[in-house]
Amino acid sequence: MPFTLNPLPYPKDALMPHISATTFEFHHGKHHQAYVNNLNKLIEGAPQANASLVEIIQDSVGDPAKAGLFNNSAQVWNHDFFWASMKPQGGGQPTGEIGALITASFGDYQGFSEAFSQAATTQFGSGWAWLVAKGGKLEIRKTPNAETPLTEAGATPLLTLDVWEHAYYLDYQNRRPDFIKTFLDHLINWDFANANLRAA
Ligand code: MN
Repeated sequence: MPFTLNPLPYPKDALMPHISATTFEFHHGKHHQAYVNNLNKLIEGAPQANASLVEIIQDSVGDPAKAGLFNNSAQVWNHDFFWASMKPQGGGQPTGEIGALITASFGDYQGFSEAFSQAATTQFGSGWAWLVAKGGKLEIRKTPNAETPLTEAGATPLLTLDVWEHAYYLDYQNRRPDFIKTFLDHLINWDFANANLRAA
């Protein structure tokens, strides 16, 4: 079964003024769609034709012969996860049970915010910043290109921020730090992080 592009979990203008509708038209409508299209071309008639998205990711990670499969399948998953990591009027202090874990793992919200910003800022070139649960506490990850902590043993992704230039260039040009601060202050969907934590 070919994969299809999942709709955004909110209207494309729902995160304005922080992320424009134009950015979503390109980032979701063009970039994310292209990963879906490329993946479908790669699995057509292949042994992976009936595999789930996560099965394709887990089967192809770290295998140079399956780099195209990994890159496109992981980017499909990463982008769905990123859209869900944001919501209108999000960001700021965490709500729900993740608040106590943030304090236990990073000292306080400020400690989390600084560690996440550091990872997102210093990911050289294209990639992602993540909050994950591992071994009963929270940790930060940064990954290049399509790599994802979904494939890290024992780690459960809770939130992600896309720091590829295509994620912010139309709205922030080269100011990646401003985009990161906006994500933290106005966009993080703590409900989504709490739901992922409960499922961990
Ligand atoms: Mn992207």
